[in-house]
Amino acid sequence: MVQVPTARSQETIALFEKYVIPNYGRFPVSLTRGEGSFVWDSDDNRYLDLFPGWGCNLLGHCPPRVVEAVREQVGRLIHVPNTWYTDAQGQWARLLSERSFGGQAFFCNSGTEAVEAAIKLARLHTPKQRYKIITFEGGFHGRTLGSTSATAQPKYHEGLGPLVAGFVYAPYGNLDAVAALIDDETAAILIEPIQGEGGIRIPPDGFLQGLRKLADEHGLLLMFDEVQSGCGRTGDWFAYQRFGVVPDVMTLAKALCGGIAGAAMLTTKEIAPSLRPGMHAATFGGNPIAASAGIAMLETIEQENLLDAARKLGDLFRERFLALQQECELVREVRVCGLMIGIELVVEGAPLVQACMERRLLVNCTQGTVIRLLPALTLTEEQAHEGCDILADVIQQQTVSE
Ligand SMILES: *Cc1c(COP(=O)(O)O)cnc(C)c1O
Repeated sequence: MVQVPTARSQETIALFEKYVIPNYGRFPVSLTRGEGSFVWDSDDNRYLDLFPGWGCNLLGHCPPRVVEAVREQVGRLIHVPNTWYTDAQGQWARLLSERSFGGQAFFCNSGTEAVEAAIKLARLHTPKQRYKIITFEGGFHGRTLGSTSATAQPKYHEGLGPLVAGFVYAPYGNLDAVAALIDDETAAILIEPIQGEGGIRIPPDGFLQGLRKLADEHGLLLMFDEVQSGCGRTGDWFAYQRFGVVPDVMTLAKALCGGIAGAAMLTTKEIAPSLRPGMHAATFGGNPIAASAGIAMLETIEQENLLDAARKLGDLFRERFLALQQECELVREVRVCGLMIGIELVVEGAPLVQACMERRLLVNCTQGTVIRLLPALTLTEEQAHEGCDILADVIQQQTVSE
């Protein structure tokens, strides 16, 4: 069992208590290095990480090609502003375009920035009176004020008002409700094709198709926030491809650069010029480090056949957790889409996350009762089974103790 907090973590924690704003709930553990799906703390305890980098480390910790690409780049050119061209940014944009809907990219540094870019684009592209954006209950789009306003979860709004005007919220999965919200001032629909933070919610059949139809009928932009679901996470390059519905705008971040900070908003060549010079920018956006990491990340997925791996591993997790559901009444629902995995429980998940950590397994809990896993595409089947064994055991123990 891991002693929590570990002895050496204690010193680091003391620094935080003195010097770091305490706006995060942190586990009392200081992490020092990682490799693949393992991460080590300052006392050299090793953890199996099924939630590496909060979904950012899609290739696991320190993926060799990304490490190599960044090492090479950082010694040659670290940063130049977007008043210049760099080959890396151009190549990166091409690779993303070829794997998605053939459009163009705006680069920034985080998911919330990509969403801000999409919000501005929607307002700039549509006629002047159109400014409203329909978003969905349980969705999550980031923490800047625009994205927070787009996030239809009251818990994230408390004390922050007034929010940015122009967002209207619809229940996830209800097309009639969306249709009823559309008026002459509506500019766009913004949705995560699979809700991540909202508990791995997979859209009902026909829902995204229905949104596409409504958007077309009313001249709205359909914008998919794939910050969590994109870049191979679901076993397709982007989740929209799995549902056969092509958006007009897509936001990407988290896994985009294999663990390095980087984000993008993609849109079609027809819509792109609406984000005209002077209307939006990001100083570090598309910098050479992010670009070379982003390229290395896409190449790794291709060369190591990791989209297939995501699907196969997803099937493994689904089978394991459906089997667990059969024998354990605490499991309410299992939702799996490639390596986006949610296990909804009938009890609070936080104590289980804690119990897993004590057994050196890292998992996440969202929405109170959903155990969320976003494992690396490079996870081995053996590691997957090991993680499932521990998690199943921890959940079953919970049954016994209640
Ligand atoms: C994490 C997330 C964001 C915010 O990304 P940051 O990089 O933290 O700003 C936005 N949208 C979705 C769907 C996310 O999962």
